[in-house]
This record gives sequence, C-alpha cells and structure tokens, in this order.
Amino acid sequence: MSWQPPIDETHDPVRESWVESANDAATDFPIQNLPLGVFTRRRGGDGAPRIGAAIGNRVVDVRAAAEAGLLAGLSAAALEVLRSWTLNAYMNLAPDERGTVRRSLGAFLDARTLAPRRQALSHLVSMADVDLHVPSSIGDYTDFYASIHHATNVGSMFRPDSPLLPNYKFVPIGYHGRSSSIVASGTPVRRPAGQARPEGAVTPSFGPSTRLDYELEVGAFAGPGNQLGTPVAVGSAERHLAGLCLVNDWSARDVQQWEYQPLGPFLAKSFATTVSPWVVTLEALAPFRVPAFERPDGDPPPLPYLESTANRASGGFDLTLEVLLSSRRMREAGCPPARLSRSHLSTMYWTFAQLVAHHTSNGCNLRAGDLLASGTVSGPSEDARGCLLELTWRGQRPVTLPTGETRAFLEDGDEVLMRGWCAREGYRRIGFGECRGTVAPAAPTT
Ligand code: CA
Repeated sequence: MSWQPPIDETHDPVRESWVESANDAATDFPIQNLPLGVFTRRRGGDGAPRIGAAIGNRVVDVRAAAEAGLLAGLSAAALEVLRSWTLNAYMNLAPDERGTVRRSLGAFLDARTLAPRRQALSHLVSMADVDLHVPSSIGDYTDFYASIHHATNVGSMFRPDSPLLPNYKFVPIGYHGRSSSIVASGTPVRRPAGQARPEGAVTPSFGPSTRLDYELEVGAFAGPGNQLGTPVAVGSAERHLAGLCLVNDWSARDVQQWEYQPLGPFLAKSFATTVSPWVVTLEALAPFRVPAFERPDGDPPPLPYLESTANRASGGFDLTLEVLLSSRRMREAGCPPARLSRSHLSTMYWTFAQLVAHHTSNGCNLRAGDLLASGTVSGPSEDARGCLLELTWRGQRPVTLPTGETRAFLEDGDEVLMRGWCAREGYRRIGFGECRGTVAPAAPTT
C-alpha cells in the first residue's frame, strides 16, 4: 500500500518556539523542521556523542531532555533509541514512532509550552559549542546517477555520438560506494593521489590528482530495512526512508577517466564523501512534495516495478540546492563565498522511492542508517550544473572567481560549500544547514 508522511499540525506555519533564533525568517531550523543529528560538546559534558535536534542556533540534547521528562508522549522504544550515540536505532523505528519523536520535540520547544524554561534551557547548547558528526553508522553507501541532465552532459563529453546510454531511461544507474571514508561537514578533504593517463600520453603515471572536483548530491538515509530476499514495492518504498541530507561526492576526474571502464568508479570516489550533519526527516518534508519528473513525450514509461500512482503524483521533493566556492585568496580578501550553481532535486529523472524499489528489486537488503545518494543534481540550464566537470566543460571553460582567479578544477585551500532548502507558499521555509569541506594538500608521495 502506498505511503507518505502526512502534513499535520507540526507544519503549522504560525507555530513559534521559545528559542527565539528559531523564529528568525532566515533560519534553516524553525520549529517546523527539527532535524536530528549527532553531536559532542566542545566544553563540559562527558565528551560522548549524543543525539541532538537543531532549533534555530541551538542544539537540543535530546537524551538529556528525554531523561529529564521534558519530552512527553515518547514510547519506551523511542526513549530507548534516543539514548544511542548514532541515529541507526532511531532510523529503524517505524515511521509512526518516528513521528512521536517529532511531535514530542515540537511540543517541548513550542512557544506556548508552559515547561519550566530554566530547566529546559540547561538542555540546549549553542550550535557554536558543538562538533557535529556523521549521523548514522553507515553500513552501506550507494551512489546513483539520477539526473538525466548530468548524465547527458557527462556522456556528451566522452561519447558525443551517444551521450545517453540505451539503458538510462530504464535502469536507475548506481554503484556501491565506500562508507568508511564518509565524513561530516567541516572535515578537511585531502587531495588524493592516483593513477591517471594525461591526454596524449601513452602510459599512465601516479601522483596527486590534478582534476579534483565536487558533486552536489542529496542523500537519503534508510529507515527500517527489508529482509534479504524480499523486494520493496515502489509504493511503500518511503516507509524505508528516514530522512535526507546534502552530500558532496568528491571526485578525482583524471583518476576516474582512466579507471572507470569496465567496472565503474573505484578510487576516484572512495577517498572522501562529505555529508551535512542534520537529517531532515521525511515527516518535516511532507509539505514540499512534488510530482515525479515528467518524462517528455517519446520517453518510455518506467517498468511496472518502478511505477506507482503515488510516486507519479508526489514522489519528488521541491528542494533547492546551491554550491558555493571560497578560495584561500577570497577568504584573505574578505570576499564571501561565490555561488557556482543552483539546481533543484525535482529535476531528477528518478525519485528516491524508485531508487529504493530498484535497489531492493533483486532481493538486496537495505539496513537502517544506510546511505543512498542521488547522483549529481544538475538541471537543464548552464547555471544548474552540479559539478566543475560540467560547469567548465572538462576544464575547457574555467570559471572566474571574484578575486580574478580562475578554476577549471579545485585547488588546495578551496572550500566547497553546499546548501539546500525547501520553501512553499503557506509553509515555513526549512533548510538543511551546510555541507562544507576544504581541500588539503596531497600527502607526500614516494
Ligand atoms: Ca556521484
């Protein structure tokens, strides 16, 4: 049976919080959002990672608030999972149980709450005083290729005669990524070394990548898993998703071009993947659902196992995404980060429900806390290209930064910053926070 989280009183746009920064129109984290993450306090506390909820410029110590009896209406199961130091057990809750956590946090933080403020305040930490971590212990990470605009652009660089391979409109293309090198926003990313064959050269050489790139993506964390051998139907696929985050799939293009045939990406991708630390729940995203991508006339319909009425009607998310870049010189000169592109998740050829249905269609099991990334989110226009490979067309048309510097690919010291948000008339805007990472010099090679 098809399922999506409903719009309810937790999305009421007039609702305000007693945490005043949450009522600021520009905040990513109003009371209508309440994303969860894992944090440690920089000062005080026991140094152990704990589950937190973002509200304005504060983090609720969810475990402490729950143990102090301030989160009313939590089931025993929900209370137990909030004591963990990852979100896996929370993600494994049935969606209805997850909903009780959201409602309870909302009631606690609501401006109309009569809870004793002094006691409540002791369970809030300033966002500036915490370190945020990868939110779940990610058992498996899969990266898809769901933007037809990205696939067409990249394909036309390497295969001008047949940019889109014949399987693209039938199969949601993906590959198994590496979970051990997934890092939280803010972690420096070391330039990888690898094997590459420069254009015109006969033999490859080994050394630091000279074509380091980012990829703007959206990640979906798996909710309750499926049994090995039991596929998930597209209509109920969202029962197996917990929430979304931003993903930077760092890519070494020179390494990728030399190694990718015949088995796909390997070391060009596995050196680092950055995720934003806050999991924006499927419940919070309910008001921002949009129809799945409308296939142009002449495109084949999805095969029946990838097709449902609900998915067609509201399988997409109206999520706007941006990439910004800040070079070392820009920071020294006091320049704000420069925007490189803006794109929309709604332009993806496949929805997350279709990605889940396809991923499990052979009986493969997902487990709570697994990460499924969308693939580079590129739109139809030139300013909606979600990586430098596309923006600079393989480095042939470098972009110019406010300092006059140019970039074909990333230089050491460059900081890549990704943002995402949902906005719709009649609802409070909610944001994803930041996904950032700075390129550190390659390790010395011998
Ligand atoms: Ca990717």
